[in-house]
Amino acid sequence: MAAYTPMIQQYLRVKADYEDAFLFFRLGDFYEMFFDDAIKASQELEITLTSREGGSEDRIPMCGVPYHSAPQYIEQLVDRGYKVAICEQTEDPKQAKGVVKREVVQLITPGTMMEGKGLHEKENNFIATISYFADNTFGFAYNDLSTGETKVTMLSSGFDEVLNELSISGAKELIIARDFNGDWQRKMKERSILTISFEEDCTGKDSYQPLLEEISQDKLHQTTARLFNYLYRTQKRSLDHLQKVSTYQTNQYMKIDYFSKRNLELTETIRSKGKKGSLLWLLDETKTAMGGRLLKQWVDRPLVNEQEIIRRQTLVETLIAAFFEREELREKLKEVYDLERLAGRVAFGNVNARDLVQLRRSLLQIPNLKEVLRKLSNHEAEMLAERLDACEEVVDLLERAIVENPPLSIKDGNMIKDGYHEQLDQYRDATRNGKTWIAQLEKQEREKTGIKSLKVGYNRVFGYYIEVTRANLHLLKEGQYERKQTLTNAERFITPDLKEKEALILQAEEKSVELEYQLFTSVREHVKEFIPRLQALAKSISELDVLQCFATVSEERHYVKPSFTKERKIVIKDGRHAVVEKVMNAQEYVPNDCYMDADREMLLITGPNMSGKSTYMRQIALTAILGQIGCFVPASEAILPIFDQVFTRIGAADDLISGQSTFMVEMLEARNAIVNATQDSLILFDEIGRGTSTYDGMALAQAIIEYIHNRLGAKTLFSTHYHELTVLEEELPMVKNVHVSAIEQNGKVVFLHKIKEGAADRSYGIHVAQLAELPEELITRANEILAKLEQTDEQIKQPSTVKNQNKIAEKNEAQLSFFDEPTEKKTAVLSTKEKRIIEKVKDIDILDMTPMEALNTLYELHKKLKG
Ligand code: ADP
Ligand code: MG
Repeated sequence: MAAYTPMIQQYLRVKADYEDAFLFFRLGDFYEMFFDDAIKASQELEITLTSREGGSEDRIPMCGVPYHSAPQYIEQLVDRGYKVAICEQTEDPKQAKGVVKREVVQLITPGTMMEGKGLHEKENNFIATISYFADNTFGFAYNDLSTGETKVTMLSSGFDEVLNELSISGAKELIIARDFNGDWQRKMKERSILTISFEEDCTGKDSYQPLLEEISQDKLHQTTARLFNYLYRTQKRSLDHLQKVSTYQTNQYMKIDYFSKRNLELTETIRSKGKKGSLLWLLDETKTAMGGRLLKQWVDRPLVNEQEIIRRQTLVETLIAAFFEREELREKLKEVYDLERLAGRVAFGNVNARDLVQLRRSLLQIPNLKEVLRKLSNHEAEMLAERLDACEEVVDLLERAIVENPPLSIKDGNMIKDGYHEQLDQYRDATRNGKTWIAQLEKQEREKTGIKSLKVGYNRVFGYYIEVTRANLHLLKEGQYERKQTLTNAERFITPDLKEKEALILQAEEKSVELEYQLFTSVREHVKEFIPRLQALAKSISELDVLQCFATVSEERHYVKPSFTKERKIVIKDGRHAVVEKVMNAQEYVPNDCYMDADREMLLITGPNMSGKSTYMRQIALTAILGQIGCFVPASEAILPIFDQVFTRIGAADDLISGQSTFMVEMLEARNAIVNATQDSLILFDEIGRGTSTYDGMALAQAIIEYIHNRLGAKTLFSTHYHELTVLEEELPMVKNVHVSAIEQNGKVVFLHKIKEGAADRSYGIHVAQLAELPEELITRANEILAKLEQTDEQIKQPSTVKNQNKIAEKNEAQLSFFDEPTEKKTAVLSTKEKRIIEKVKDIDILDMTPMEALNTLYELHKKLKG
């Protein structure tokens, strides 16, 4: 190290504390990077890599960006998951003895972005923390630094739950202790692009103690402290906009785990990973950024408390009825700026005068909003109007202080209104008077000298001057004018009077710019005191915005208000899939009913490929979710239970996206549902068992159906292409067959997309191939093969149980069941080895096992049977 120059030594000392970040090292007008940082940054940012002498033998790699364009580069790096440490000169270079003092003033990380493109206006930017406690519980907290909100909870159902909460938050950065379990860390990274950062300190500090006032539990304190300590450590400033921490419990909301959320495309589609095409996209008629963010939060966490749901519904209903008022509200909301993030930036000290003008304009809308709400003459609307705080003091201050169209920069003046501050007015008078004097000077000098073309002008280098063309020079009186600058055709002069006025003007100007800056900062400081009120206002506004959004969508798309029942029954008339219906053209969508109750707990859905099984199942889940976020639902009538959880699983063959070991994923997902579902849950199993060979898959599918039927009693929709499973209706009283109808016309299938009672008569696979225009010859051959297979099948077909033997024979169905008594016929075609295995199966009580054990046992047995 000694070989390096003092500045490089200083660099290395600072860098040692920020190993995992790019160090932006301020050197004059540039931020420079050195060594490996420089090499990596030059690649990431596509900027030129140079080098400089640094005292050692080799030149040091270096690259840099001008300080004024730094934000865009920082954003690029942070967007890719990197951190950037900003190291500024902390003393005036002119005053410095030796190397200028430098210090890191802020560490910018993916979870702590305050502005820029990386911060989508309708999305929160969360940073999360997980604390693990010895009693197998986890503290989980997340914060959005740009809005100042923080939520914390305790999770005690294992790491999967933690992973789930983490995914729902969509956090970009995670704070943990360095010794946090490595396996878990890996799993979290697999789940989403996460920057993992470490913070050991979880003792509370005075700086944020008041925010934790209402939280009594020690573990919640420690968890939040870890997060706040990290924020303060990296941001290195007072964070006055942090709001009171709120606690929540996962059971306050309908649980929708990560897989289900993904499968249902609630907030993004599976394919594009974008919002377009998702339920959120369909719903988003919000007019403000804050409303957009709240909408996403609501979609992520549907309610389970009926009263809360009804409260939202009531307002939605009122707003639907009041078309004109709603339109008025929407117009007004459009004018409301992102108060929540603005409050954050006020605290951070990076708002400009334009932002404050926007703030004033937004606040001016509040009285209008209140008035419209009152017109609705509805109790809930009245309460909401009551809660809207117009912050008149802020409006008044800003009206007096800030001009209508201030510049972007806060260092060039022209922000503060005349009459706001006496001293400023005086400076301005001086400037204006001086300028008038100068304006008159031109006229006077022209008269005095008789030079018509004489001009008074100004430039940055020479200040004010009198310009005379070369041809007229002789008309000037000697000794009164001092030559300042020579141009090709003219000369420029000054006079002592002019110089004096100029000094006055410039001084006054300089002073007024300085004073304006001070006045602006004091206005900003003053606004800071209103942050909590602005934040409360932001909350109410966003709620109003989401409710009007629900009303708008519900009306436009002809939704109906669902009612809720404790009877565990589902009645949906003319139900539609909210998103598919919108994408396709409303007239083409075929509505479908759904009826389920305590005697009809499971629907086994069969039907050809492409007939609409998946769509039907999803539309029921989406309807339940829409209902529980307080929105109306796409149907002509709906009675719903309040579901505690929704599970959606798709057979692996349908899941073309992940490309992982799909069958394992399928089984893991299934396990999650089977282990966690209650009788108040909704399960959608879409072609489960598809990812493995036929008999395997069918066996698993049947075992799963039996298990859910006998053990869980959750409302379940189970689609399957294993036709053979439809006989389960006979054995399991709560299972009912339905099918999606298709008709054959001229040897081709036509899908009617209509759900009907009973099982489908066959599976139409070849017709779909035909539809896909495979060669005629191939289709014919497939039909031949099928005919042959059906023949052989006929010969080896065995009834699954003695009890059902006749019925099944009648139905002409094949069935493979591990649970049943081997019949005479069956033994006849089995080898001795197979017989022994089947004997063994009889002794195993599958129902005493955990679902996973059961599945594994079945799988093992099946392998043995085959091999
Ligand atoms: P399956 O799961 O039976 O293979 P899908 O549910 O994937 O079928 O539906 C296939 C296609 O059929 C969908 O992409 C959609 O375009 C159309 N479809 C499904 N349900 C309906 C409906 N109720 N009305 C109109 N079209 C539908
Ligand atoms: Mg499907």
